[in-house]
Amino acid sequence: MNDIAPDLLKKLKKYFAEKYNNDPEIKRILNLENLSYADANNFAIRVGEILANTYQELLTPVTLPDGRMYWNIAERIIEPTMKHNFDIISKFTSRVQSYLNKEAGLGLKAIKPQLNEDRIKGILERLAAEELYADIKWILNEPIVNFSQSIVDDSIKANAEFHARAGLKPKVVRVLDGTGCEWCRSLAGEYSYPNVPSDVYRRHEKCRCTVEYKTGDGRIQNVHSRKWI
Ligand SMILES: [Zn+2]
Repeated sequence: MNDIAPDLLKKLKKYFAEKYNNDPEIKRILNLENLSYADANNFAIRVGEILANTYQELLTPVTLPDGRMYWNIAERIIEPTMKHNFDIISKFTSRVQSYLNKEAGLGLKAIKPQLNEDRIKGILERLAAEELYADIKWILNEPIVNFSQSIVDDSIKANAEFHARAGLKPKVVRVLDGTGCEWCRSLAGEYSYPNVPSDVYRRHEKCRCTVEYKTGDGRIQNVHSRKWI
């Protein structure tokens, strides 16, 4: 049987790169000078959408042997492309965190979140378990956006915990998008370390809540003007 994975991976990378490089929203965010985690969240959503669209466009039952996403194919085309999203997004969150640290007068370096391998494995397993790719295609749509957003949440968590360990008093603020669901409403609010429930960093499907971060020196960044008070 013809091994389709290398060619498919090449196509996915090319398609993604073209969309990413020409996306006005990506360009806008990358050109921002004053940064916040809300920007990182928007960036992650857009990068996630571009990858999800790439999968939806190029991966169809016809392009796969037996109309199935076998494990050995998923592992070689989905895993590297999801990891690539992690690389792009975590690079951006490092930029945001470096900016926040500098603005707060903190001589701390930005911490890069760890790649959540289990999340990728979970998606690969679901894909490979299904006989027909058509029945599981949805998992390469919204869950990819959700995975991308979680990289930002993980970055906030890693840096806030690092700052708390350094003796600072970081705060995280979770803000609802619209009215939100009951679970999100129960989580919205401002938290100070060490009293931050771990659910603050979690999100359900299609959740567009934002998590903001305040460095621990007592100053607050205005979310609209991005000025520090
Ligand atoms: Zn939500």
